Amino acid sequence: MEADVDVLVIGAGACGLAAAIAAHDAGATVAIIEKLDRPGGNSSLSTGSVPAAGTRFQREAGIDDSTDRFIEDLIRKGGPTDCPDLLRRLVETSAETVEWLVDTVGARMALVTAYKHVGHSVPRLHAPVSRRGQDLVDDLLAAVEQRGIPLAVGNDARALLSDATSAVIGADVETPDGERHRIAARKTILAVNGFAGNRDLVARFCSEVSGAQYFGARGSTGEAVLWGEQIGAALGNIGAYQGYAAVSDPHGSLLSWTTIEKGGIIVNRAGHRFGDESAGYSGYTPNVMAQGVPCFAIFDQRIFDVTAAEEEFIELANYGGVKQAATPEALAAFHKLDAAAIAATLDDYNKASRGEKPDAFGRCDFALAPLTGDLYICRVLPGLFHTQGGLMVDTDGRVLRANGKPIANLFAGGGAAAGLSGKTGAGGYASGNGLLSAVGLGRLAGRAATHEIRHEAAA
Ligand SMILES: Cc1cc2nc3c(=O)[nH]c(=O)nc-3n(C[C@H](O)[C@H](O)[C@H](O)COP(=O)(O)OP(=O)(O)OC[C@H]3O[C@@H](n4cnc5c(N)ncnc54)[C@H](O)[C@@H]3O)c2cc1C
Repeated sequence: MEADVDVLVIGAGACGLAAAIAAHDAGATVAIIEKLDRPGGNSSLSTGSVPAAGTRFQREAGIDDSTDRFIEDLIRKGGPTDCPDLLRRLVETSAETVEWLVDTVGARMALVTAYKHVGHSVPRLHAPVSRRGQDLVDDLLAAVEQRGIPLAVGNDARALLSDATSAVIGADVETPDGERHRIAARKTILAVNGFAGNRDLVARFCSEVSGAQYFGARGSTGEAVLWGEQIGAALGNIGAYQGYAAVSDPHGSLLSWTTIEKGGIIVNRAGHRFGDESAGYSGYTPNVMAQGVPCFAIFDQRIFDVTAAEEEFIELANYGGVKQAATPEALAAFHKLDAAAIAATLDDYNKASRGEKPDAFGRCDFALAPLTGDLYICRVLPGLFHTQGGLMVDTDGRVLRANGKPIANLFAGGGAAAGLSGKTGAGGYASGNGLLSAVGLGRLAGRAATHEIRHEAAA
């Protein structure tokens, strides 16, 4: 087959768009295909936050950070990883990734200094001012358009094409009118995200969260893992995922974790707490899963007032997702919970937060608690945001076999590749791990794919 393009990018989320821009700017001809009728994927649903250590934005804000500190933070949070070299490379290139987004792509991003994020010991998240991932995607799309890179939506890659030597030579694609078409490419970059939207794969690799509501974009159906297994790719960190312990029910929007972080608690149907909520919104997801659904978040007026600064929280409250009561008994009545159990739970927790006794579940960070005055309750379910495991790749995104050798011409990044959140579970996710892998590895893979083409042409 004659190559139609130098680099074929499959998937038009942050990873695919970053990869396409980097490959184009390095001199390749590039095409992007996207199976849904609009680009963006999970990247559009995210807050668009990308962590980086040592950026000029941190220096301007007087924040002392280093790549070693960032690595320590990720390892402390995630524990052992299948890909230590990849983690180091993405951290070491993180400042350049964020500055590339701002300077080359034209992304409107700023350092978030108002608060630290889960897993990070200093402010290092860089995000759109709106905190909407859609803004980051829009800026990436504008850069793609400026460069004249073709992006075909409604084009679903159905299989990878390989030659007799098992080198990848493009993809078999279904067009919007249902026709099959072969796109030949010198290099293919898989930017299709993970498998959180594929129940079978979630049950196989992340069984503790199997059955949780999937709360991401429709496109994350696991092709990277499915195709990778067919062609002998190794998988890494495959049990890791990002969950959310408090999706409001039945409204379906997220109950801001600020309500819990600032001292709120989560109780089960019996009105009892069941763990240390300070594990974080992702880390606490399996605890909520294990209770059977639904559970109930409880906080007080001061916490409500702090969280009221967040638009989505106020929307939820205005739609009746958060209910207010003057007493524990009235609070329990909203959801037909045992009033005496709720009162006892609050009494016990408040004693611990005042230091009168150790917390039954080891919580040490009580923020604004004890919970006093008017109380609020929200019914919550656990959710699954995205999976963090995927194809084993080298530090440029080349997909690897179990023997460590690359599969010729195939690259992966973002949710399609092994992530940065440890080997398994929800507790290893530090804020921004998803997008650092998407933008950072997408950019590295786009550049490396183009350099390979140049070397092959010169040889
Ligand atoms: C609610 C929510 C909040 C989040 N917040 C954050 C955050 O603040 N920071 C952070 O770092 N991470 C966050 N994450 C995770 C983050 O969104 C993802 O890790 C990241 O967006 C992955 O980027 P990606 O480009 O790999 O995948 P995506 O952005 O999902 O893009 C993949 C694209 O590939 C397409 N595709 C899939 N299969 C095919 C195929 N066969 N053919 C053609 N196209 C295909 C999909 O339709 C999709 O458009 C959040 C996730 C959710 C759901």
